[in-house]
Amino acid sequence: MSIHDDIERVLIDAATLQARIAELGAQIARDTGGEPVLLVGILKGAVLFLADLARAIDAPVELDFMAVSSYGNTMQSQGRVRILKDLDDAISGKHVVLVEDIIDTGLTMSYLLDLLRQRGPASLRVCALLDKQKPRARHITVDYIGFPIENAFVVGYGLDFAQRYRNLPYIGVLKPEVYQGRKNAGG
Ligand code: 5GP
Repeated sequence: MSIHDDIERVLIDAATLQARIAELGAQIARDTGGEPVLLVGILKGAVLFLADLARAIDAPVELDFMAVSSYGNTMQSQGRVRILKDLDDAISGKHVVLVEDIIDTGLTMSYLLDLLRQRGPASLRVCALLDKQKPRARHITVDYIGFPIENAFVVGYGLDFAQRYRNLPYIGVLKPEVYQGRKNAGG
């Protein structure tokens, strides 16, 4: 039994992910003019992406993390955002890039942008690996997008279903029988 058996189809393979992340890293370094960048990863989904993105930036990089409540026990956004873990350090005067795995409704990012903007960063930008092509509940500007994707529930490369599949090296769509009839999903 392999975790790959639960995947219906691969949406973005590992080599394609890495090639795009190299471009994103170069773009972030260019836009910040070689100045130090603080990457703020949103736990846990953004961890794998952040690890590769950080190595693709040829400039001084600092890391910090936030954890927010996301989908709870469903595969739909609840429209509620709760801070479970705040940043360790102040961001005043820093060039901050919020690193997120996926933008779906935009509610999480909209909330975080409002919150962090109040803390006086020198700049505040958003880098999302995936951007779901569907109407947003909140308008937000995503400065760096890895891949626009169809409106499907995806797993892998940090993204989970019921805390599993984060370690898949690619982005894929689960077979329906994996989540049908299950109540404990997402997060
Ligand atoms: P938003 O607030 O934009 O609706 O949701 C963002 C969060 O929802 C993401 O950080 C992620 O945790 C979760 N999410 C949204 N779409 C998906 C998806 O297709 N798969 C998984 N695994 N999580 C998702």
